[in-house]
Amino acid sequence: MVDRVACIVVGAGVVGLAVARALALQGREVMVLEQAEAIGTGTSSRNSEVIHAGIYYPQGSLKAQLCVQGKHMLYDYCDARGVAYQRCGKLIVATSPEQVPQLEAIRQKAAANGVDDLVHLTREQARELEPALECVAALHSPSTGIVDSHGLMLALQGDLENAGGMVAFHAAVERAVLQDDGHWLVRTQDGTELETPLLVNAAGYWAPDLARRFEGLAAEHIPTAYYAKGNYFVLSGRAPFSHLIYPVPEAAGLGVHLTLDMGGQAKFGPDVEWVEDPDQLVVNPARGDGFYAEVRRYWPALPEGALVAGYAGIRPKISGPHEASADFCIQGPQQHAAPGLINLFGIESPGLTSCLAVAEQVAQLAPAV
Ligand SMILES: Cc1cc2nc3c(=O)[nH]c(=O)nc-3n(C[C@H](O)[C@H](O)[C@H](O)COP(=O)(O)OP(=O)(O)OC[C@H]3O[C@@H](n4cnc5c(N)ncnc54)[C@H](O)[C@@H]3O)c2cc1C
Repeated sequence: MVDRVACIVVGAGVVGLAVARALALQGREVMVLEQAEAIGTGTSSRNSEVIHAGIYYPQGSLKAQLCVQGKHMLYDYCDARGVAYQRCGKLIVATSPEQVPQLEAIRQKAAANGVDDLVHLTREQARELEPALECVAALHSPSTGIVDSHGLMLALQGDLENAGGMVAFHAAVERAVLQDDGHWLVRTQDGTELETPLLVNAAGYWAPDLARRFEGLAAEHIPTAYYAKGNYFVLSGRAPFSHLIYPVPEAAGLGVHLTLDMGGQAKFGPDVEWVEDPDQLVVNPARGDGFYAEVRRYWPALPEGALVAGYAGIRPKISGPHEASADFCIQGPQQHAAPGLINLFGIESPGLTSCLAVAEQVAQLAPAV
């Protein structure tokens, strides 16, 4: 006799945990199956921990909508649950006169997304906020912040468990088969089988690969996975900045920017390195050589030798290097026609910021209890 669970979520990253919590708060019995030995060992612990304002995403995209909504939800949630965060703000800096018009374009794009608090700063105003900064002009985003991502995941797990849900570790989902009664038979690597009417694939960059092992989901609905590694270099010593500092964005990413963690440690990156193997997370120290010139455009006093290879994370992309960045893909039966299945593909940045809003969408897609 196979055990039945009302809902299975695959993956205990920040998104899987937020989704599981939302489903449990609806009164469902929820089990999270996680292949690792702990929560948040994937991309959720290998990012910048920035609460993004929602500035750069195309108007009307899920990224724009869920980032702005998720940011407000996240600040409220952190207040309610005592999760550490800082609304430190960020400066987007033009380092040459040619870049100045781009600041106004960014401000307008942000306003179209409902982020209407960006303020233009002259060089002098920017340097009043950050005396070590060099720039021609800047934009100030006061609603950008940083969060203790692990504290956030612990709070989400706590809420899930208080609502009767659970996380099972060392539970790698191998495959799932849609049965005649519309339920999914989920099999883990150790041979355990569970039946569920609601299966959520929140497996991060593994999600497309896992979906290929769902019998009952047509292959045409599964995007190709691409992996864009982001390498960080940490600053040895204290940074003379209290805001996050971003150059005007480039085509491939947000440029080599400076972020701070809750302990005040500064790091630069992430850069963009397209890789075939997402499990190759070692940072090549040689990549740091190119960081110095980029950073010195806005911080000329960066000391030689101050950057140390840090860590790397993998962006779970569903668009390739020469394509426009794909939107989040939250795929339910309306899209793929397989009952009781919700796939989360391409939940790259701003996925941390958006996790509570993504969870709310998934909970709305799930059949009524
Ligand atoms: C370099 C970088 C910087 C970023 N910076 C930011 C930022 O500053 N702000 C922001 O908002 N977002 C940021 N993001 C995005 C954010 O980190 C992700 O959107 C978010 O962490 C995704 O969470 P997740 O739960 O979907 O995936 P993950 O954290 O990857 O979790 C997926 C989980 O699924 C498990 N799993 C996989 N396959 C199976 C299986 N078969 N069976 C069981 N378990 C399985 C994995 O072990 C893992 O724990 C960044 C991302 C990167 C890469």
